[in-house]
Amino acid sequence: MQQPTPRHNTTGNSNTYEARVPNNPPGGKEAMPMDTEVYESPYADPDELRSSTVDRSQLFLEDGELGSGNFGTVMKGIYKMRKTEKPVAVKILKNDDNLQSVTDEMLREANVMQQLDNPYIVRMIGICEAESLMLVMELAELGPLHKFLQKHKQTTVKNITELVHQVSMGMKYLEEHNFVHRDLAARNVLLVTQHYAKISDFGLSKAVAEEQNYYKAKGHGKWPVKWYAPECINYFKFSSKSDVWSFGVLMWEAFSYGQKPYKGMKGNDVMQMIESGSRMDAPLNCPPEMYDLMKTCWTYKLDDRPGFSVVEPRLREYYYDISQ
Ligand code: ATP
Repeated sequence: MQQPTPRHNTTGNSNTYEARVPNNPPGGKEAMPMDTEVYESPYADPDELRSSTVDRSQLFLEDGELGSGNFGTVMKGIYKMRKTEKPVAVKILKNDDNLQSVTDEMLREANVMQQLDNPYIVRMIGICEAESLMLVMELAELGPLHKFLQKHKQTTVKNITELVHQVSMGMKYLEEHNFVHRDLAARNVLLVTQHYAKISDFGLSKAVAEEQNYYKAKGHGKWPVKWYAPECINYFKFSSKSDVWSFGVLMWEAFSYGQKPYKGMKGNDVMQMIESGSRMDAPLNCPPEMYDLMKTCWTYKLDDRPGFSVVEPRLREYYYDISQ
């Protein structure tokens, strides 16, 4: 079988990017990841000074929220850099919540994000300390993947495969850099365009020691149990392999057009179901190759479960096959 030219480089290193896949629609109107403003870091231009702080006088917030979460609200804005103006998303800490613990949490998230630079991960542009503490990030305007798919049921399987493959590339990068995400779910994948996904929300993420390669939580928190591998729940042990389990659930969410996994079940029932060897059924019309991959991600034993270095090429191959 002849392989088409890779559409994305799989290391996420923008320097080695090659040409487009030959299946663009006539007229080539689809915005490709690399045609967008957020493919490369805003600091890739040597004329832009890399700084972890954003000057408030250069940041312009727009009316209307992009979303909200535990921390507060996320607003759209414009950040005026030396040479360019960037549309940004600004996570604003609630003022009445400016408690040290919440501030620390946001600074921890910023610290993780600052160390990451990959086209398939939302980049942090900087922290702005002004009327509130603000985390300035790249904008992914189409919002969370599950909500997009709930609204756009005509999205093709090929398109969904393309998006989950991009997530796997971002995750492979995290795995290679010894970070565990710990909250990988469709709600934390944001879309820049219908054909460009980025991983977000690094609030629970941790850098792990290379030799040990897992993070041991001190106890149960407010955990997304339905996305967690058995060793997370049973031993509080988090690794890239447990992110792979979550990725399987994310794939299930994507191929079921944003449905809730284990619908109507309580966390305890889900754990029992997993322990008994059962897994979620395939989403309606899900390609068997993709359901097989989900089930592989849900391999009970950590040592038998593949890493993203195996999952990513499987998605890439399948995407190329259906792109022919
Ligand atoms: P939680 O902890 O409850 O998951 P949070 O406080 O960490 O939430 P986020 O999930 O990071 O907040 O963001 C909340 C919402 O804001 C997202 O669901 C999304 O709709 C929007 N949002 C966040 N970051 C961006 C971004 N970079 N671009 C566009 N929208 C964003």
